[in-house]
Amino acid sequence: QPRVVIVGLGVVGSALADELTLRGIADVTVFDQGPLYVTGGSSSHAPGFVFQTTADRTMTRLAARTLDKLDGVRLDGQWLVKRVGGLEIATTPERLHDLRRRHGLASSWGVPSSLVDADECARLWPGLDPASVLGGFLTPTDGVVKSVPAVRWQAERAADRGARIVGSTRVVGIARKGGRVTGVEVVPVPSRDAAPEHVPADVVVSCAGLWGPGISRDVLGFELPMQPMEHGFGHSGPVPSLAGRNTPLDETSRPMLRHQDFSLYLREYVDRIGVGAYNHRPIPLEQSQIASADEFAATGVHPAMHPLTWDDFAPSWEEARRLLPELRDVAFDTGFNGIFSFTPDGGPLLGPVPGTEGVWLAQAVWVTQSAGVAQVMADWIVSGDPGIDTHGLDHSRFDPALVSRAFTRERAEEAYDEVYDIRHPHRPTARLRGLRTSPFHPRHVAQGAVFGEGGGWERPLWFEANAHLLDGLTTVPARDAWAGEGWSPIAAAEAHVTRTAVALYDLSPLPRLEVEGPGATELLQRLLTNDVDVAIGRVVYGLLLDDRGGILSDVTVTRLGEERYLVGTNGEPDRVRLVEHAPPGVSVRPASPGGCGIGLWGPRAREVLQRVTDDDVSHSGFGYFRARSIRVAGAPVLALRVSYVGELGWELYTTADHGLYLWDTLWEAGQPSGVIAAGRRAFNSLRLEKGYRAFGADMNREHTPEEAGLGFAVRMGKAGFVGRDALATRAAPRRLVPLVLDDPARVVLGGEPVYAADETAAVGYVASADQGYTIGASIAYAWLPARLAEPGTRLEIEYFAERQAATVRAEPLFDAEMTHIRR
Ligand code: FAD
Repeated sequence: QPRVVIVGLGVVGSALADELTLRGIADVTVFDQGPLYVTGGSSSHAPGFVFQTTADRTMTRLAARTLDKLDGVRLDGQWLVKRVGGLEIATTPERLHDLRRRHGLASSWGVPSSLVDADECARLWPGLDPASVLGGFLTPTDGVVKSVPAVRWQAERAADRGARIVGSTRVVGIARKGGRVTGVEVVPVPSRDAAPEHVPADVVVSCAGLWGPGISRDVLGFELPMQPMEHGFGHSGPVPSLAGRNTPLDETSRPMLRHQDFSLYLREYVDRIGVGAYNHRPIPLEQSQIASADEFAATGVHPAMHPLTWDDFAPSWEEARRLLPELRDVAFDTGFNGIFSFTPDGGPLLGPVPGTEGVWLAQAVWVTQSAGVAQVMADWIVSGDPGIDTHGLDHSRFDPALVSRAFTRERAEEAYDEVYDIRHPHRPTARLRGLRTSPFHPRHVAQGAVFGEGGGWERPLWFEANAHLLDGLTTVPARDAWAGEGWSPIAAAEAHVTRTAVALYDLSPLPRLEVEGPGATELLQRLLTNDVDVAIGRVVYGLLLDDRGGILSDVTVTRLGEERYLVGTNGEPDRVRLVEHAPPGVSVRPASPGGCGIGLWGPRAREVLQRVTDDDVSHSGFGYFRARSIRVAGAPVLALRVSYVGELGWELYTTADHGLYLWDTLWEAGQPSGVIAAGRRAFNSLRLEKGYRAFGADMNREHTPEEAGLGFAVRMGKAGFVGRDALATRAAPRRLVPLVLDDPARVVLGGEPVYAADETAAVGYVASADQGYTIGASIAYAWLPARLAEPGTRLEIEYFAERQAATVRAEPLFDAEMTHIRR
């Protein structure tokens, strides 16, 4: 039985103590630097709005789990959760339209909801001015969580099972030996220069809220992409129309209200209204601006509370009065700037800390997901299996090369600014642009590239220089405004040229690793589903699985030598996994920084490459899924005959110093063949036509290879790979399959619910979707129960509250015979 120390008793630490003891871990100690149970952290001040619906399936389910856990509990007669419902109102046509999309998301993730008209909004919120409102989105199972009682209830349950809950004690250090944690160093608060006391532990979990970045930097030695921010919250004075409406114990009965067009949220507090405001400048805080435990002990001023900056808050108060006429004669009462944390992508930062076994993080979690997150963490710590998709939760999803104070601050400020914006999934960040560019960047710019951003990289989406190619194309359907954002019909032209001539794609941002040293083969054999012990120069597509057979990643492995491999990955979590399992003597090095790559793809790719190399690149001389070092007009290039777009071609990798030369050489050599530069929008469409999956968007650790349609990448005959035994017995009740919409002009973007005839609840949801330009079809890959995944099954996809008829199709939709690729 491990001895567990939890740092911090907010909603996260208390829930984790509860969940761990519930799973039979008896030796749990929680230290909080503040007094119990109002510790002075964020949880001491959260108004506890829990709106479940987000664009992210996992985050929505964690919110639902939080409410389910605390629902019905009473502490000293007080409720912990009150499901008053959530009402999001629209005051602009754009928002009204977007609420239909949110209704779709809620349906996809199983949150009951309905779209309501302005009169219904006014009925639900009698004080609401119906003239201001166009309609609403109602989620009746949303609710308010009382965070301090939730902390106390969960901590007391843990204590009843033997946990020690210790207040006024600060963790100042983490002791390690031989790559393992051995305990923590603690001092009393106020510390008065007390010598630290060592408390032994096998597992230490940082649930330190605002103080997390400091602990990571000072104690663990790495930068945590988490930014504490100030946020205005205030209360009105007593509202006459609310007099007698709620008892102090009942506190609130109307739905929580979100007025996102003004970045505002409100709820009842007995006979007052609480108003939260995101409509102010971001106010990021450094660790030095957050009061220490000793300062809190000396002054009594809560660290997570700063004085209200009225200039920031005043416009929101005015808007609240405009929206709710009942507030117009009511004075503002009190307010404060509360402090809590944002991350670059809005997700929490969870999981084990690489490098020191036994240290874990549960940081940047809101009340909304708190108990759900604690369940996941407890499962993860106790069994190694979090039981849920972690690709958007795992703190190591951020490339360490990207994470800096500046990165975190900029992206978190942007996230704060946009928290209630109608956020299009294709809208790129505006912050820290140009942080990473490939050597081809100047050529991209010269071709009129429109750039997106991913992992800090500038990535061409399409090239305006290709606009003239549209002249010959008559079959590109116009898109509606939503599907058309971050898109251009030029993508269709680029896709067509890739299928009929040849195109250059920038592959530099793809994360690649070099795995080398005695034992490299054994390492990859153990972690991969496919057999990598192949002839040197072969390429293998395989999956990384967890112990239960869930997909952790898909990778392309090229055997470069007896014990040397190039592995194309999905990023930092893959690197961490390989490093963790690597025996001494095997090195795992990132190969992308300082390198670059071009996808040379299309039926005329061979003639272009042959013009600039002396190597034999004929089909017999350079077979499919083979790799070789070649020279391209003198430049050293590692060529892989693979293609993510389903065409003849090569991935050509070289070092950055040769990059521009390689691009220019291929560009020139490609002119007689009609070469173009092509971007990610064309790329995405082509890969969907061919049925190639994207990890994260299409599959994750909740899915088995068979369910994801990747059974071909698993060699069950190969003994001893991680996940194999589980696969042999695990059920596969779902399938990822392509639907084709009846209307080829209607494009969905992912996250939409799928309905079957005679069933009221959604039966599945869309993963990746796009137009298949060269097959003239609108494609939506969807997760469905296996019984509905047979080709020919008629279904409906809901897009902005309209049902679109669609049919399950056999895959791949393009070139099932592989004649394009194997020519
Ligand atoms: P905290 O509650 O801050 O707990 C961390 C604890 O760690 C603290 O008690 C601290 O004392 C302790 N600690 C830190 N360092 C040490 C150390 N070295 N040794 C010992 N103890 C240590 N969320 C929602 O979901 N919905 C909302 O409507 C909402 N509105 C909000 C409005 C305001 C004004 C504020 C302030 C927050 C709001 N939040 C909301 C956010 C939410 O409150 C926080 O995200 C959440 O409470 C964080 O919980 P936590 O347990 O991670 O952190």
